[in-house]
Amino acid sequence: MVRAEKVRKHFGRLEVLKGVDLEVRRGEVVCLIGPSGSGKSTFLRCINHLETVDGGRMWVDGQVMGYEQRGNKLHELGDKEICRRRTQIGMVFQHFNLFPHMTVLENLVEAPRRALKEAKDAATERALGLLDQVGLGDKAQAYPRHLSGGQQQRVAIARALCMRPKLMLFDEPTSALDPELVGDVLTVMRDLASSGMTMVVVTHEMGFAREVADRVAFFDAGQVVEVGPAQQVITEPRHARTKAFLAAVR
Ligand code: ATP
Ligand code: MG
Repeated sequence: MVRAEKVRKHFGRLEVLKGVDLEVRRGEVVCLIGPSGSGKSTFLRCINHLETVDGGRMWVDGQVMGYEQRGNKLHELGDKEICRRRTQIGMVFQHFNLFPHMTVLENLVEAPRRALKEAKDAATERALGLLDQVGLGDKAQAYPRHLSGGQQQRVAIARALCMRPKLMLFDEPTSALDPELVGDVLTVMRDLASSGMTMVVVTHEMGFAREVADRVAFFDAGQVVEVGPAQQVITEPRHARTKAFLAAVR
C-alpha cells in the first residue's frame, strides 16, 4: 500500500529524512517510533504529499504520490488531482481540528458531501453508523466544545473514515489527551486494525505498538534504524540506538 524508496526531505539546510526505505503492506499496521525531531511526522506528511519529497520516491497504492506515469515518464499532478488522491488517505493528528461551529454529525458529512458528492441521506446514515462504531452514537448533535478530548479524537477518526480511505495515517493521536481518555481512543484504533484497515501510526504508546502493530519502525536522525515484527523490535531491539530509546521511554 505504501512503499518509500530512499525518501529524502530537507528544510533549508536541515536534512530531515536521509533516504528512508519502508514498506507497508495492505491490511498491515506499522507503528513509527523514535525520538523527537527524528522525522516521523515529516515522513507521514510525505505519504499524503502534504510535504513533497526531495529525493527518492513515495508510492501509495501502486502510484508515485504526486505524480502520474505517462509512458515511462513521470508528470507532476495538478492540485485538484493531488487533492482527489489525498481524499483516499485518512489522517488523524494530535490535535483533532474539528470544525468548532459544526455539530459532530455536520463535521462528519461535510467532506463526503463536498468532495465525494454523496447524497445527504446516504452520507448521514453512514456517519451515524461510524459514530456508533467509535462509541459516540448519542453525540451526533453535540458541538465539539462539549466533548472531552478523547471523544473529539474519536469523532476525528470517524470523520476520516467517512471518506472511505484505503489508508489511515495517525500522528500521535493520543499525545494531547489526559491519561484516562487514551484507552477509548486506542480501543477504536485497535478495532479499526482488526477490521483490516492499513494503518501507519506514529506513537509513543509502546503497549499499543507491541499489541496492535504488525511491524514497528524505529526512526532516528532521519533514518529507519531498525524495522521488524512489533514484538521483536520492542522487547528485543537489536540496534543500540533502539535499545537506548526504549530504555528511556519505559
Ligand atoms: P516529534 O516526536 O517531536 O513529533 P518528529 O519525529 O515527528 O518529532 P518532525 O516533526 O518530522 O519530527 O521534524 C523533524 C525535523 O524537521 C525537526 O528538526 C523539525 O524542527 C524540522 N521541521 C519539521 N517541519 C519543518 C518545516 N516545515 N520547516 C522547517 N523545519 C521543519
Ligand atoms: Mg511528530
